[in-house]
Amino acid sequence: MDNILYDKHYNCLACDSEFKTKKVRSGKIRTTHIDSDLCSYYDGIVPYYYEINICPQCGFAFTDSFAPLKTNQKQMIYEDYAKRYLPQGVPNLCDERDEHEAILSFRLALGAGFAMKEQPKLLAGICMRLAWLHRMAERPEAEHEFLDAANRFFQVAYETQQDSLGDAYYLHMLGDTSLRLDRISEARRWFSQLFAPANSGYRYIELARDAWAEHRYEQETTN
Ligand SMILES: [Zn+2]
Repeated sequence: MDNILYDKHYNCLACDSEFKTKKVRSGKIRTTHIDSDLCSYYDGIVPYYYEINICPQCGFAFTDSFAPLKTNQKQMIYEDYAKRYLPQGVPNLCDERDEHEAILSFRLALGAGFAMKEQPKLLAGICMRLAWLHRMAERPEAEHEFLDAANRFFQVAYETQQDSLGDAYYLHMLGDTSLRLDRISEARRWFSQLFAPANSGYRYIELARDAWAEHRYEQETTN
């Protein structure tokens, strides 16, 4: 574990304090399995646990992808965040994290992302990780709650954003989350767009095809 984790320095987006927090050396981990919505499983450690940075001074949470806060917005955004999400005080989540602490870190990052009006694709990504952690712990209701939230953010992202992630990724996530939420006609609509020839080069196209094919196979065998 010592070998896999290392300390990385950050400056808090809200209060500017410098702190260090544990990160995972990506070269030291090995993927053992990947679900159709890209939830990855690893030998021994769950790298998702360490994605969120939480300032030990003020409790503000952020990912490496969050935009810097404008100086004139810092106080208002922080106060709004602290009032809603830190009623129990500032946690210290800079050391090794257990599952409970990892979920708390993502919930705080979601709160901070809301307060900052962060991009829908980032909020969708945080919701997917919360869904995955609940999936790994076999809590399907909580998993579905966050898949539903992710699905809504992905729709906004798909309709409003043009970026390097590309349409195929959004169509994949929209199709897969819809399928897992049992919204079959929606899933069919997203997947049929994904399976258009223009997306045949998409990296995870086979994963998406398999998920949809498996669903259809299950439908045929239960009918
Ligand atoms: Zn801070």
